[in-house]
Amino acid sequence: MTTSRPIRVRIDLAALRHNFSVARRLAGKAKIWAVIKADAYGHGQFQVAKALDKLTDGYALLETETAVALRERGCGKPILLLEGFFAPEDIPLLARFDLTPALHCQTQLDMLVDAPLRPASACIKLNTGMNRLGFRPEEIGAVRLLLEEMGIRRLTLMSHFAEADTPVGVGEQLLRVQQLRASDTGAGLPVSLANSAALIRYPESRGGAEDWVRPGIMLYGGSPFVDTTAATLGLQPVMTLESQLIGVQILQTGERLGYGGAFQAESPMRIGIVACGYADGYPRHAPTGTPIAVAGVATRTLGRVSMDMLAVDLSAIPQAEVDSPVTLWGIGEGGAVDADVVATAADTISYELFCAVAPRVPRRWIGGV
Ligand SMILES: *Cc1c(COP(=O)(O)O)cnc(C)c1O
Repeated sequence: MTTSRPIRVRIDLAALRHNFSVARRLAGKAKIWAVIKADAYGHGQFQVAKALDKLTDGYALLETETAVALRERGCGKPILLLEGFFAPEDIPLLARFDLTPALHCQTQLDMLVDAPLRPASACIKLNTGMNRLGFRPEEIGAVRLLLEEMGIRRLTLMSHFAEADTPVGVGEQLLRVQQLRASDTGAGLPVSLANSAALIRYPESRGGAEDWVRPGIMLYGGSPFVDTTAATLGLQPVMTLESQLIGVQILQTGERLGYGGAFQAESPMRIGIVACGYADGYPRHAPTGTPIAVAGVATRTLGRVSMDMLAVDLSAIPQAEVDSPVTLWGIGEGGAVDADVVATAADTISYELFCAVAPRVPRRWIGGV
């Protein structure tokens, strides 16, 4: 829906392809499952899939329905379902549309045993320490045997790192994979281990020509690390959230602003009201001082974010007036604002900001080929 309310999201598919090329370089010989779950982290799963069509080796996502929709749009590449399937009715679809489920628990195996049609490929999810989903190393032998007996022979060993983005790193988890691979149980199985953080920081987790990596956030220009900016990693912002000023006020000394009067003017000051609030997906917990840009100038938010509006400091931007462009994050007419910096200020991560943009915000894609 297009609306005359000025808030917009712009998604730069050329920047997406640039970021993919960074992932490609890091991946070396390993193949790439481009992670497009959660509507491609809010960037539009079908638009993103199309933009990466000539570049990626496959896609990773969650819903069988989304995978089928991709197939119906002509996608012939491997598609990994990161949580496998959820109901017996999904299984014939896996077979019919050649989808690769991640298998992580006995319940799924039981459903497969009873299924009339089975997929040709699967990832066996190995729990190496994340302790969310997956079989323990000592269970893998029996799982592999059962799957092979059922005719599911294109198997990959998949695991997920809990701390690839922290100083703890991937060492212990990677060791468990390597031990399994060195045993009869894991012999000859390709692996898929690295998310964005591991792909960037731990070359030893990428694997070789038979193996797969699973970058997500880096494709969308977000940094997986709190201490390293996306720009430092050579990544470009893909999503821009932009709006305009719809009001300007002069606060007198001591006057307070917005709900709870959370900001108080220490001297007379000019402030702007932006058409963007938490119902648009802007984080409500962004405090006074969160970076934002108005009319090409970097400034800060003031007071509490409300449902449909937030306030900005115009002290150093006398030229700003109603209709002036505002960049909440990304690169727009309002200026440039790093989404990761906004996320950190609001005590979250850029992943959440991107995914949280509300359906009421119109999206536009540029740089498509
Ligand atoms: C989301 C996800 C990824 C991608 O993680 P990023 O940190 O966004 O690169 C990779 N693997 C699995 C299993 C995931 O759920």
